[in-house]
Amino acid sequence: MKAIKRLSAWLHDSNVDSTERVFVLLTVIAEIGVTIAMLGDALSNESFFETAVLIFVVILVPVATLLGVRHRKIQVSIHIIILSLVFIILPVVFFFGGGVEGGSVVWIVFSFLYVGLVLRGVWRTAMLVSLTVLSFVGFLLEYLHPELVVQHTRKMFYIDSYISLIVVGMVIFVMVWFQNRLFQEENRRAREETLKAEELNRAQNRFFSSMSHEIRTPINSILGLNELILRQEDASDEIIRDANNINGAGKMLLSLINDILDFSKIEAGSMDIVPVEYRVGDMMSEIVNMVWLRASEKGLKFNVDIDPQVPSVLFGDEVRIKQILINLLNNAVKYTQSGSVGLHIESEDTGDNSVLLTISVTDTGIGIKQENLPYLFDAFRREDQEKNRYIEGTGLGLSIVRQLVDLMGGTVTVNSVYTQGSTFTVSLKQGVVITKAVGDISITSSGGTARHRHEHRFSAPDAKVLIVDDNEMNLEVEKKLLGDTEMRVDTAMSGAEALDMALRARYDVILMDHLMPEMDGIECLERLRVQTGGLNKNVPVVVLTANAGSKNRELYNAAGFDGYLVKPVSGVQLEDMLLRHLPAEKVFRTDGSDMTGEEMRTAKG
Ligand code: ADP
Repeated sequence: MKAIKRLSAWLHDSNVDSTERVFVLLTVIAEIGVTIAMLGDALSNESFFETAVLIFVVILVPVATLLGVRHRKIQVSIHIIILSLVFIILPVVFFFGGGVEGGSVVWIVFSFLYVGLVLRGVWRTAMLVSLTVLSFVGFLLEYLHPELVVQHTRKMFYIDSYISLIVVGMVIFVMVWFQNRLFQEENRRAREETLKAEELNRAQNRFFSSMSHEIRTPINSILGLNELILRQEDASDEIIRDANNINGAGKMLLSLINDILDFSKIEAGSMDIVPVEYRVGDMMSEIVNMVWLRASEKGLKFNVDIDPQVPSVLFGDEVRIKQILINLLNNAVKYTQSGSVGLHIESEDTGDNSVLLTISVTDTGIGIKQENLPYLFDAFRREDQEKNRYIEGTGLGLSIVRQLVDLMGGTVTVNSVYTQGSTFTVSLKQGVVITKAVGDISITSSGGTARHRHEHRFSAPDAKVLIVDDNEMNLEVEKKLLGDTEMRVDTAMSGAEALDMALRARYDVILMDHLMPEMDGIECLERLRVQTGGLNKNVPVVVLTANAGSKNRELYNAAGFDGYLVKPVSGVQLEDMLLRHLPAEKVFRTDGSDMTGEEMRTAKG
């Protein structure tokens, strides 16, 4: 009983190779069958030779199997048993057990099955051929020389044939059943693996997005406080230089987090392309303003040349296109010591209401050696290390660029002359929403200094703003960044506190963090909108979160927020957003302009 239990446990053990399990199972059944056949033979006093061979089998099979299992040499046991089966047992049983009319024919069928199931590779082929040839020889010999075959008595013929039939029938039955079980087991395992992989993928994404969130929150404080230092008119040049370095390092850290986040997303196959309608002019000025400063700090000329024929509103993934261009432009600035960096955009009508947008980024920088060009877009690859050692980078940027371009069905190519400069060209098909041409928005700039004076856009002494965030330092920084605007800025450290304050005062705008313990920003917004006795049911609420990612914009839109700001947030971004939502009668413009956003950032000198 114990042995049967152990055998059953072993047969069910999915860690054991399935061929080995099939082999043992077949062996056990064959052993039972052969024992019955041997007893039948012995009782009916049939051929001595046949009985002797059957006794040999009854001993050999379990001994060889047990030794094989114990010494982990199952393949050797399989080979010994099969060789004995094909070359000794079958011929003896055939010639001494009634030939074509005896039970051996069914055993030949069994042998084919056995060979097919437990052998692999050359052995399987060799034994298949041997079985075929030997059966043929046996049949032929019996046909030509019937006297070579020891015939059964009529009674023995029936007994032998019946036993063989039943044993082989049982073996086939068990085999089919067992194979089916194995198949289902494999299927179940494959399903489990897929679920596990998906869970891992989700866990990885959760980890990366929470890592991004956790890192963005303190960077928000660092960059915000740093901006306050940079705003100080009486700060010494040295302090300003240090603060500028903090700024650069903070932004570098941020782009590193973004790159790692995007790279892991692409690897996990969860990077989605989210096409939206976008204004080419707005997108370009945003990009230009982000790169302009860096270029001017290095004394590089920055030429922007946008073909006036490009349609003004296109349909595509604005966020990812911006990311691609910023990556290429940042590289161009990074790897150029003197001269210029250029951005050129043109479009070609492709019929079906779309255009092929071709964007080239050129530089007069260090260039790339011809032999390095094929590997340029590989992840973690950085070329020309001896020259680039002191230029910061991870080697992820271009890999992300290529993968994003691939996801959008576009192409990216590079042309470069070592020591002269490079040109990266991206071609993307974009839908056309408004055909009206974008017009002349060419921009050229050069020069610049490192000190930037903050000029607040407006003052609004009568306006009241509430900022809700569970991070005290973030609250303090954001409040201070808005200090010049003279608004009354209240703060709340939780959703509950914000709801409480919303009963006592009416605000003009509420800035709300998303991830807060107990009540998150989305729930707080929902409650605010239906709050009994609430004074802020219709007040614009802007989400101010460390949750980055292209999908979040949709999430917050759907949740009913009136705007979306990602930490780290600058004073300019805060002011821009507030300008959009504050009642016009409370706002006094201090810059005499109605421009918004980054465009307003000016350089002294
Ligand atoms: P990183 O800049 O972080 O090293 P990238 O993937 O953006 O990573 O670029 C990979 C490599 O390609 C860089 O290390 C650099 O050797 C080379 N490279 C990229 N852009 C330029 C360029 N405009 N001029 C010269 N070399 C470049």
